[in-house]
Amino acid sequence: MNHYQEAKVIIVYSYTAILELYLLCSLDATMRACKYLFSFLLLAVGHRYVTCRTIYLEVNTPTKEEIAFLKKYGYLPEESAEDIDFAYTPQSISEGLKKMQAFAGLPATGTLDSETKKLFNMKRCGVKDIENNISTRSRRYLVQQGWSSKNITFRVLNEPSTLSKERVEKQVEASLAIWAPHGGLTFTKVDTGHADIRFSFMRGDHGDGFPFDGLGHIVAHAFPPPVGALHFDDDEFWGDSPDKEQQVENDITDLFAVAVHEIGHALGLYHSDVKSSVMYPYYKVSVEKLSLDDIMGMHEIYMKDELFELEDIPLDVTESDSSVVPKFTRADDESNENEIPDLCYTNYDTIQVIQGKIFVFEEEWVWVLSKRRQIEEGYPKRYHDVFIGLPADINIVKTIYEKPNGKISIFSGRQYWEFDSNFHFLKRGSITEYSIPRNVPELTTVFISNYNNKTYLIEYERFWRYDEAKGAMDKGYPKDMSAWRQLPYPVDAAIIWEEDTFFFRGPRFWRFDNELVQAHEYYPLPTAQIWFPCQSNDEMYRYITNDEP
Ligand code: ZN
Ligand code: ZN
Repeated sequence: MNHYQEAKVIIVYSYTAILELYLLCSLDATMRACKYLFSFLLLAVGHRYVTCRTIYLEVNTPTKEEIAFLKKYGYLPEESAEDIDFAYTPQSISEGLKKMQAFAGLPATGTLDSETKKLFNMKRCGVKDIENNISTRSRRYLVQQGWSSKNITFRVLNEPSTLSKERVEKQVEASLAIWAPHGGLTFTKVDTGHADIRFSFMRGDHGDGFPFDGLGHIVAHAFPPPVGALHFDDDEFWGDSPDKEQQVENDITDLFAVAVHEIGHALGLYHSDVKSSVMYPYYKVSVEKLSLDDIMGMHEIYMKDELFELEDIPLDVTESDSSVVPKFTRADDESNENEIPDLCYTNYDTIQVIQGKIFVFEEEWVWVLSKRRQIEEGYPKRYHDVFIGLPADINIVKTIYEKPNGKISIFSGRQYWEFDSNFHFLKRGSITEYSIPRNVPELTTVFISNYNNKTYLIEYERFWRYDEAKGAMDKGYPKDMSAWRQLPYPVDAAIIWEEDTFFFRGPRFWRFDNELVQAHEYYPLPTAQIWFPCQSNDEMYRYITNDEP
């Protein structure tokens, strides 16, 4: 029973008690005064009872507008059977509310409490929070396609009633400057003709199918590349004053804060549920710099093949956000074998690409990802249930690799187990067959380089190079791991992914430059947030340096 129901019951009881006293009084005509007193109480409590009932109903039943809100931002399926609001069951509305609460960083209760109600009226961006065609498992600085050129033109088409065009341009330029270094982008202003990114101020229905709503609530929206249009609601009082207090007092909407956010969309970013991200959908004025979440999104779109601008990552996270505080769920009691390790807060026994998918091994589990941050349905599974015939006493997959002939070898200790492409056991062997000396207890990493198609067998501080075609080790090995510059060792895993070589160690990874034979300068980065569907958090800042914590 919730507290509204409780309150209701108490009031009904009080009401009944007073009613009885009232009737008692009425029996005796001499108790006229008493009768009046109770008439008064009866009316007062009766009124309270009615008011309470009204609140109760109001709080638990979303209005038509609120259902429309849930639909608009992607928290309710857009096309229900007959597309009338009645078609939503209380359960589906509660589920929608939960998603909305979680995205905003509120407790996901599924009930329409006062904090949740506030969200309906808050100033915010008009772009959807959840794209229906995107799996929620892969959320977090979700990106769409970016601009194909890094030289992007922009144009301010008009100005709002409250600011001159020059002042708008100044704010727009400042907002673009925040994004530019994180994508290696240059923005060039044009005053006539077509521009990639266009800023304009419009009112109400302005012809793109997403009408504005007058003062408050939706303040702007933007379209991703290749459209690049940014629309600001001209019914807002747009301001550029640095005095934030004065802005709040006069209900002024800060152009800079909103422009930074909308530019994010125009560069290809979706909304983020990380409160410190500038891509958080609700309006906030404290936008001074991008969060790591935003930076990683830009990195994903524009910097994949280039260096990651580590210097620009804000190392002091000013806004503490309880929803992203790391929760260490690693079991203290390691004997509990049913505990599935949290992929976001663990090291990884090994990681490898097999049949084009990413396999992650930790303890007795394997996760399979069809691409970065997208875990396949049904995983994690016990790897003994995936690699049929692997002896039950194998309790760690130290390293694994897929041979050019499609066969897969799992290494543990000095032994390996070979499987066919359907993961059925074929044979057992020993690393002696690779001519690995007898004093090597195990290999930590085996991978085939796409640079020279050679197989690298890595111990702790040494590695060998094997030629699969010849079935023989190359001469001049082992070599020292220090030959691979900027890379700490021992490593836990090495993979080739989209033509790039990545090394993994603990919670970090490095991208390796085969030409320079060294790790890229701006690595490591945190493995969990880049490869797995894990939320950004303060903890990951520790992983972007070669220093061990
Ligand atoms: Zn937005
Ligand atoms: Zn518009």
